Amino acid sequence: MPIKPNYAFMTFESERSVSSKKLDCFVSIDFDGTITDSDITDAVIKKFARPEWEAVERLWEAGAIGSMECLSKQMALIDASLAEILEYAGEFSVNETFSAFVNFLRKNEMPFAIISDGFDLIIKKILSKSGLSNIPVYSNRITEIYGELMTSFPYNKTGCSSGVCKCSVARANSGGLPVIHIGDGRSDFCLAEDAAHVFSKKKLTDYCRTKNLNHTPFFDFKTIENSLAVLIERGSFESVETEKIMPSFNSGALIL
Ligand SMILES: [Mg+2]
Ligand SMILES: [Zn+2]
Repeated sequence: MPIKPNYAFMTFESERSVSSKKLDCFVSIDFDGTITDSDITDAVIKKFARPEWEAVERLWEAGAIGSMECLSKQMALIDASLAEILEYAGEFSVNETFSAFVNFLRKNEMPFAIISDGFDLIIKKILSKSGLSNIPVYSNRITEIYGELMTSFPYNKTGCSSGVCKCSVARANSGGLPVIHIGDGRSDFCLAEDAAHVFSKKKLTDYCRTKNLNHTPFFDFKTIENSLAVLIERGSFESVETEKIMPSFNSGALIL
């Protein structure tokens, strides 16, 4: 005899995103090549910097210099104005699945931030062009003073050669919750080692494989949303130790 389904205990796809269950974690998201399909920082340097930028890039690729030294030298090779750079950045947009993902995180009350080794005003330009606002962003900074482009690195950490030391930013702003990190490249390596789970693309996937880190390769933010929906339904990361301290999220972030 067929068993009648008991609809009262079934969860429908459409109800998942408004489920009362919660997943206690902090989601950190890389910008270049993750939220955007291409690397905008690279695109800006290729378009505007004098050709010596390539020699600097080779030093960085060889591991002779870190990203902070690389970025400050390459940005110093740009003669264009900040307005020209931002106008060019405005030709790019976020991946088409990203806005829905931000709504998903907000609906499920999951604290999140963009942690990027790119530059604040370029990120802001692309987010606002895509209709996104009120997102905490930790990144390097760019300004123009008397017609000169100036870069600064408020999230650099002594002993870490990246512009933004993603692992220390995540540690300081995750409220002690396990971190889920989403990224694609070398700037994500240090945080990937610390994260409870990584959603990875490209170089970061290779790195997670080599280091045997807990990771899921992703195609777009919809695929991440589906994985997180399963974890939310389950209600926890069983394998992850959660330190219970008073959560304090994103206290030092620029809200872009
Ligand atoms: Mg990236
Ligand atoms: Zn670091």
